[in-house]
Amino acid sequence: MRAPALPVEGDTIAAISTPYGVGGIGIVRISGPDSERIALTLFRPKKPIDRLRSHHLHYGHILHSKGGPPIDEVLLAWMRAPHTYTREDMVEIQCHGGPLPVRGILEVVLSWGARLAEPGEFTRRAFLNGRIDLAQAEAIVDIVEAKNLTALRFAQSQLCGVLSDEILRIQEETKSVLVEVEAWLDFPEEDIPGPQFEAMRVQLEGWIGSITNLMKTYEEGHLHRDGVNLVIVGEPNVGKSTLLNALLGKQRAIVSPLPGTTRDYLEEFVLLGGIPVRLVDTAGLRETHEEIEAQGVTAARRKIAEADLLLYVVDACRLEAEGWKGIPAGGEEARTLVVLNKVDLVSQGSVEDTIRRIHPLRCAAISALYGQGMDCLRQMILDQLVTEKMDLDCRAVVSNLRHQKALESCREALRAARGQLGLEEPPGDLLASDLCRAVRAMGEILGQTTPEEILNRIFDSFCIGK
Ligand code: GDP
Repeated sequence: MRAPALPVEGDTIAAISTPYGVGGIGIVRISGPDSERIALTLFRPKKPIDRLRSHHLHYGHILHSKGGPPIDEVLLAWMRAPHTYTREDMVEIQCHGGPLPVRGILEVVLSWGARLAEPGEFTRRAFLNGRIDLAQAEAIVDIVEAKNLTALRFAQSQLCGVLSDEILRIQEETKSVLVEVEAWLDFPEEDIPGPQFEAMRVQLEGWIGSITNLMKTYEEGHLHRDGVNLVIVGEPNVGKSTLLNALLGKQRAIVSPLPGTTRDYLEEFVLLGGIPVRLVDTAGLRETHEEIEAQGVTAARRKIAEADLLLYVVDACRLEAEGWKGIPAGGEEARTLVVLNKVDLVSQGSVEDTIRRIHPLRCAAISALYGQGMDCLRQMILDQLVTEKMDLDCRAVVSNLRHQKALESCREALRAARGQLGLEEPPGDLLASDLCRAVRAMGEILGQTTPEEILNRIFDSFCIGK
């Protein structure tokens, strides 16, 4: 059982589903009750047929108008509801992948009564018609935008309903307890046995445990889905650009012995231990009166505020001379790794001493220029990002912040309900209200109780034609 079917507008929509530009093929998609009529009007099959066969490809031409000249040679798939992407009648027209044929076909489809689809409207119809729930619809965007194979695997399992099924299970069980409590509240004098509070408490513990287990998967799920922001900070000339190049494995940033060479921040994407990382090299954070460099410093501060992890680079020679002054303002210790760079210029004893003084788990000694210590630094970065390595194969994984927040509300409501059960005489109305909140929070993930504005925001993030 998925999200309940809601009424759908009865119009027929159409859009180009392939990216704009030149490609092998282009696809125009049509969905709605008029799909078949439009297809039969515009399509001239190569061999005469008496009707379109559902879920079959037909070879022929799309005409400018009935009996008019052809726009393009196509393969046309007609799919009768309900076994389609939207659960409505659908047509997909595959033509040559140039902007003119694709646009020409779309225009003629629109001229015969279809309306141009909004972004994500095909998927929205699949959701409204109850073929998929909201978490599954979101998984479709995640599949399209997956940054690595793990993110793709998580998104595919979410689309298959692994997460939804787990949430539905807990929601159904919570609902049945809620029904029991409400019956007791509505008919206190009747001869029905009162709720079994102890059994309920055990059940609640189980659900809280299941939700907590789901929430624990978020750290890794979100890392793969969204990637992380890793920001390199430090004073000018300590080797930040050299470190960026070393992590990227290519020359990207300009390295110069002159302080203040990096005027703005540089942003590059890299997979670190399979995790998608946006690597940002900031301008040095020194006070400056030079306007362009000052702008770089402001941009750097913004990036620092958004960072998941900061690499605070210090020059081992300078540190030896001046001593450790601590992490500068703006970089909390918990999300900062100190990178002691240029260790090729100082003695091993001095390096060990410094690491001990800073923190062995929060300080990596490297020579970005010669590659020394880089593997160890990569491992330390991964350890900071994934604190608890879990086996996430074959289980429900939460990778979306919206889901994580809804689970948090759900768990909070379940804990409140558990609190009511701990009282000598559990107040039935408060218990029912807490259980109701938990059911609603789970419903938000599945799209049963999600406010319209959030639905709009989710489907607006799809492309047109999806
Ligand atoms: P940034 O201003 O912090 O980005 O520093 P750069 O990456 O531009 O480096 C400043 C200078 O330090 C350049 O001359 C680099 O070649 C040099 N440098 C960077 N890393 C190392 C290192 O590990 N060892 C040595 N000896 N020099 C380095």
